[in-house]
Amino acid sequence: MQSICIYCGSASGADPAFLDEAVRAGTLIANQGLTLVYGGGRVGLMGAVADAALAAGGRVVGVMPEDLVAREIAHTGLTELHVVKNMHERKLKMSELADGFLCLPGGPGTFEEIFEQWTWALLGIHAKPCGFVNVNGYYDLTRALIQQMADKGFSQQPYVEMLIYARDTAEALDAFRAYVPPPPKWSGQGVKP
Ligand code: AMP
Repeated sequence: MQSICIYCGSASGADPAFLDEAVRAGTLIANQGLTLVYGGGRVGLMGAVADAALAAGGRVVGVMPEDLVAREIAHTGLTELHVVKNMHERKLKMSELADGFLCLPGGPGTFEEIFEQWTWALLGIHAKPCGFVNVNGYYDLTRALIQQMADKGFSQQPYVEMLIYARDTAEALDAFRAYVPPPPKWSGQGVKP
């Protein structure tokens, strides 16, 4: 694993533990020699992860649609900033650049991004790990909702279990390195509905 994509809030959230973990995540990613790929913003947890990684001497690559750059919320001190046409191009670019996708707490944008990459992973579009840093139980309800998808017949247990939940970023990165993808859906070897 050489690079890790972090999805997280463009706000800092209501619990100071969220910001603490964002700073720890950025520092750890840099200290492990990983490139941080993220949405390119300078606000909220996103900005905190990027600032911490840069402060620790890490490589930080942002990917941002041109209209968000125009609204001056791009981080101006990154190693690289890819300016793309729109959100679809952005998510594809981030997906191509990263070897795994990890969520810190966040809002709708964060959920959209990780659900897309989980879907691509279970379809076999890529074989990269997806997971959540469950700071103070923030993703407990998400985990229960995803389990319900399998329990009620809209997903299967291996696709539920391919998602990684960790107490902190260090644990998540270890689990990402040990990740073995399930057989893709519709591959002939995939889990039968
Ligand atoms: P949200 O969780 O709704 O705050 O959205 C955060 C996620 O969506 C991040 O992982 C970003 O990739 C993207 N995003 C949303 N708002 C911004 C922003 N102002 N600047 C950069 N990326 C953003």
